[in-house]
Amino acid sequence: FAINMDQLQLDEELGKGNYGTVKKVLHKPTNVAMAMKEIRLELEEAKLNAIIMELDILHRAVAPEIVEFYGAFFIESCVYYCMEYMDAGSLDKLLGAGVPEDVLGRVASSMVKGLKFLKDELQIIHRDVKPTNVLVNRKGQIKLCDFGVSGQLEKSLAKTNIGCQSYMAPERIKGESQNNLGTYTVSSDVWSLGLSMIELAIGQYPYPPETYSNVFAQLTAIVHGDPPGLPEDKYSEDARDWVSKCLIKTPERRATYTELLAHPFLEADSKREVDMIGWVKDALAHREQQHNLVTATLVPPLASLS
Ligand code: ADP
Repeated sequence: FAINMDQLQLDEELGKGNYGTVKKVLHKPTNVAMAMKEIRLELEEAKLNAIIMELDILHRAVAPEIVEFYGAFFIESCVYYCMEYMDAGSLDKLLGAGVPEDVLGRVASSMVKGLKFLKDELQIIHRDVKPTNVLVNRKGQIKLCDFGVSGQLEKSLAKTNIGCQSYMAPERIKGESQNNLGTYTVSSDVWSLGLSMIELAIGQYPYPPETYSNVFAQLTAIVHGDPPGLPEDKYSEDARDWVSKCLIKTPERRATYTELLAHPFLEADSKREVDMIGWVKDALAHREQQHNLVTATLVPPLASLS
């Protein structure tokens, strides 16, 4: 069935992305909580219709590691995209100072399974693998969102912000600078996956902007420097080896999803219990505490003004 705006009760804002706002909504006919993303596009109706049709493939993207798609519609020049509400939000906001190895393993295996599913079943390359596009819920599930299914939509979202955090593989950075957009293969997603793992481990983006004087210097480091690795003191040899196989600079030599799943790091993950529910609960509590600390230090000076 098709979702429309009249069926939705709008609740709080969940976050702002590069292209629009995400709100929590209630789908009244089914009583299902959803997340609705608003994407503002100055396009004519025919193009908006084409985007809605292309997004339809998402109804087939049903897997435990993929955020469920409920439907999309447009009003005026905005596309509204409704998906499963993930009540712990995106991974980047739950990291703290970095995650323990068993959690890292569970996230890695979920991401690889999700990416492999998209590729094998739907011939989709994600194209935007990064911690903000990995969502978590209090049931301890880890799911991917925001993958590129609509050529028309990608074209319309002007790639204005390369941003100061590039998860792009070296061959893509080189390719883009030669204006060659045909270089994107599935192994570019594997690089972004490896980089995301390091961010999860150390609690920050591995090429920190304060180390590089500008974006050009940062991209140069990705293309010409040695790839980063997991910290030796915190992670096992298997974990470090797994990540290093994602971050091989030559795309043809990088690990495939099948190899990554068969690697001892993920084999160990498949054999152990990981308390993801407990980890999510603690991570949310920690975040709440940080938030309260910030508000507590901000409020007194503001109060003294009145
Ligand atoms: P970006 O463009 O940076 O990828 P998005 O527009 O996808 O960001 O999302 C903005 C924020 O909204 C995310 O960081 C996340 O916290 C929240 N969000 C997005 N999708 C969902 C969802 N399905 N459930 C809960 N929160 C979400």
